[in-house]
Amino acid sequence: MPPIKSVKVLIDGPKELIFDYSIPEGMNLEAGHRVKIPIQNRITLGTVLQVSPPSQSKHNLKPVKEVISETPLLTETLLKMAQWMSTYYCSPLEHVLRTMLPGSLRKAKSFDKTQKSVVLIRLPDAEELQKIEKRAKRQYTILMELERSGGTCPQRLLGEGVTSPLKALVEKGYVKVEDEVVKRDPDSGESFVPSQPLTLNEEQERALEAVLALTKKEEPPKPILLAGVTGSGKTEVYLQAADAILRTGKTVLILVPEIALTPQTVRRFKSRFEQYNHPVAVLHSDLSEGERHDEWKRLRSGEAVVAIGARSAIFAPLQNVGLIVVDEEHETSYKQESSPRYHGRDVSVLRANLEGCPIVLGSATPSLESWYNAVKGKFSLLKIEKRADDQSLPRIRIIDMRMEARKTNIKPLIFSDKLRDAIQKRLDIKEQTILFLNRRGFSRSALCPSCGHTVQCPHCSLALTYHRKDDRMICHLCQYLSMPPKVCPECRDPSILFAGYGTEKVHEVTQQIFKNAKIARLDADITRKKGALKQTLEAFRTHKVDILIGTQMIAKGLHFPTVTLVGVLNADLSLHTPDFRASERTFQLLTQVAGRSGRGPLEGEVIIQTFTPHAPSIQYARHHDYYGFAEQELEFRKAFSYPPATHLAVLVCSSQKEDLAELTLKTIQKRLEEHLPDPDKYSILLGESLPAPLEKAHDEFRFQLLMRSSHPRVLSQYLKYTLDKLPLPENVRLTCDIDAYEMG
Ligand code: ADP
Ligand code: ZN
Repeated sequence: MPPIKSVKVLIDGPKELIFDYSIPEGMNLEAGHRVKIPIQNRITLGTVLQVSPPSQSKHNLKPVKEVISETPLLTETLLKMAQWMSTYYCSPLEHVLRTMLPGSLRKAKSFDKTQKSVVLIRLPDAEELQKIEKRAKRQYTILMELERSGGTCPQRLLGEGVTSPLKALVEKGYVKVEDEVVKRDPDSGESFVPSQPLTLNEEQERALEAVLALTKKEEPPKPILLAGVTGSGKTEVYLQAADAILRTGKTVLILVPEIALTPQTVRRFKSRFEQYNHPVAVLHSDLSEGERHDEWKRLRSGEAVVAIGARSAIFAPLQNVGLIVVDEEHETSYKQESSPRYHGRDVSVLRANLEGCPIVLGSATPSLESWYNAVKGKFSLLKIEKRADDQSLPRIRIIDMRMEARKTNIKPLIFSDKLRDAIQKRLDIKEQTILFLNRRGFSRSALCPSCGHTVQCPHCSLALTYHRKDDRMICHLCQYLSMPPKVCPECRDPSILFAGYGTEKVHEVTQQIFKNAKIARLDADITRKKGALKQTLEAFRTHKVDILIGTQMIAKGLHFPTVTLVGVLNADLSLHTPDFRASERTFQLLTQVAGRSGRGPLEGEVIIQTFTPHAPSIQYARHHDYYGFAEQELEFRKAFSYPPATHLAVLVCSSQKEDLAELTLKTIQKRLEEHLPDPDKYSILLGESLPAPLEKAHDEFRFQLLMRSSHPRVLSQYLKYTLDKLPLPENVRLTCDIDAYEMG
């Protein structure tokens, strides 16, 4: 008997099941194909991981039943990335593959959008045609229409009531009706005005040359950290680097944070590339499932050669990648907070390494992680210290809200006098204002002034937030709804009041003060509606809105030349979170939001209101001093062995039974202690199992254990090794977060 060819198939489902199947005669299989396979007595779906060499010993294998994807859905590089991610992030391979592929593509049923199309096979001869013209008018019109439109025409364009004449024509063999695949277009046919490359200034020129020089290297080049102040023209550098790479026939992958993935950004890229016949595909969460499916397929087929998208776009099925750009690389939205808990920037660095192509990580406020890599020489550092158009950075003023609060008895005090005057001045001279509300670590919770009671979600240990529009308290974790309390549930004090304020409150107060101003607001609640983000930004861009109020969402990436004032209402709230990154986050946020001001010919101003004016993050931001901030912050992290000096893993055990969750994690801790790898060599710091900062969520109690090591791969392997051998009790869930950002 001849040797049998077989494949290794990963079965869909939560368990990591991998089985061998033989390849039936005539079936063409490669790694990355999706297949139907028999398992026990049913048929299920799976992904081909590998084609094994032919062997005699494989005769008893069951054969693959059917191939359901025309081409392998995952390239060799993507499969390698998947394996790496599965190991590094302690995540089942199946979870990784699920994240890599749009759900629609994994299904057996085709998700292509089709329309009926009528195709002319041949025209009747002249005599026959005359007959048809006389006796069957409809059939005649259809034939003529088909001839006129070059032999094929969508059925719907042939008008109503064509079914039976068409049927007659099909029977006579003159035409056939086919299903034709049509593309869903997220831009609904919008066309883009071509944009010309700008003449680069000296700093930009140096950055561009440094990137392009790397394409000539043999081995995978060192990642570039491009630290350029806000408005320094980093995007122009990406555009020109990408353009040069595309001209060599390679493809380009651009990651931007989800919230910066505005129509404005997309337009900028499409306007530059599409005029040279380099089609762009966009991948983000505002696309419908169908649109995402089609964009993905355009990338897979090679029709689109640029992919621009949020975190998961790093899995775009491009071949022959010549450049990867990660814009705003410090953004925490690059970290996925469900399994696999990967970091988009780190996976991008991996992909660039596998592709052997240059990668540029750009930011005005690089993450301490990337900064540390630059300090150690793992990344090359390129700086741009001036704004592109020779504009100076905006002037930043700090307002001490403790002093302001003493002057008045308005509570809560939203506007200092200085900010209020500055807004009025902008309204008078018809310039625009952005008001930024720091929402991190902040809640509009009901707080009792007598006993300090706050209203909590009964299922999660989280304060409920008040939403005025529906007059309801909402849990932002589990969507639990309740009526706002009239008196304190604890001590019956009727003056239980709302401790903070949200965007709605700011909107209302701002409108009261500036009666004739046109005001819009952007926050997560508003943008849940499809298209709302696009509309609001467009209204602001065309100056139909004077004042834009928003949260983190408006802090980054937006470019509005007529904004000359940015007001930060409450700078320090992000400092009061139990998180060693609090200072870094505050610095980034303030610098980014300040960078929205004065991006055109008009000079910009920034007013920051704070209760802690002397906090280092606020002072360094005020002086636009990233390097000063990074240096002192890195010293602090090193002193306490916090990331980036170490890698941090967070284990969280959760269960509805509090003691069970606690006991399980304690057991895990014990096992980990027993198997601790050589402490002298790997210096793994193992913490204590403790209640997580979020003690309860979705009715489950949560306990956490922190581990740190400067050898992340050893850490992952050791965790996987220990955890795999330890079956979890029923009703206990364990999550493992490597390079964690959320502190449980
Ligand atoms: P960044 O991405 O660093 O925040 P942008 O690329 O958005 O900066 O550039 C800010 C502004 O400066 C944009 O309006 C851009 O068109 C302009 N710009 C960029 N490079 C140049 C240049 N070389 N000459 C003139 N204007 C430029
Ligand atoms: Zn809840």
